[in-house]
Amino acid sequence: MEAFCRLGIPSINYAEPSYISNMNEIDEWKHKWNEGKITWKLESDTPDIEGKKFEVRIINLAFLAWGKEMKNLKVRQQKRSTADAELKINFVAKESDSYLKDKPNVLAYAYFPNPRSSLAGDITFNDDYIWSANGGSVPAWKHDPEHYSRYSKTMFKSYDLQHVATHEIGHALGLKHNPHCRECVMYPTYSGIKNLHNHKAERKYLVHGQELDLTDEAVATYRKYGVEVTPVSIEDYLHDVERIQQFYGKRNLPSRLVEILRNKIRRGYTIPE
Ligand SMILES: [Zn+2]
Ligand SMILES: [Zn+2]
Repeated sequence: MEAFCRLGIPSINYAEPSYISNMNEIDEWKHKWNEGKITWKLESDTPDIEGKKFEVRIINLAFLAWGKEMKNLKVRQQKRSTADAELKINFVAKESDSYLKDKPNVLAYAYFPNPRSSLAGDITFNDDYIWSANGGSVPAWKHDPEHYSRYSKTMFKSYDLQHVATHEIGHALGLKHNPHCRECVMYPTYSGIKNLHNHKAERKYLVHGQELDLTDEAVATYRKYGVEVTPVSIEDYLHDVERIQQFYGKRNLPSRLVEILRNKIRRGYTIPE
């Protein structure tokens, strides 16, 4: 049995909430990639955007978000078209995918690391959705010129490819969802967040049955006045960054270098409409 994520679209009328709760029943995934190097490859792209360059850049940025935190695992793009990659990425029409076929609410899914499966790390995007750089609205006529005239005011919703790619890569590296924190990329529903969440600067304490983020000084003050201050288990408050570092160690990259890498990926990159 393969384990995989299905990133759902949040909605009051969410048709199949069980997808998300099923996922949360899995403890932190038991396998990770061996230390060293793995590769990814975009096998098929989305027709929403002409050419492959945009998708490759966005996916590169998503890998950079994780890569700049991990010490013991390097993930590189497999550029040789004939060579295989561990993480195979595809955009597919939902009718041609056995998982997406009956699940219209699923944006994308990914397979966890698994030493016995060639599917491990693979990521599939549902190409029935419109993908874009920022998840904004796009004119309907641009995507469906057959049914909408150039003068139609109808807009379609698009989805932020970088956010969804970052989330799915998290699964492909071994992380399950974090249902406790909406600011985490690994929160179970679509949010558009692209930066990994790091919460270690804040410490949670129980004060009179209430959870509070307190500085060391605040804790000292409470205690001085005889108030009981109990630290909340740190395990419950691991976020994207700490979780990936539990698997692959902590990398200390100067933020300036990360910015240089980011700009290198973005160079010459304009947001397609
Ligand atoms: Zn997910
Ligand atoms: Zn978080």
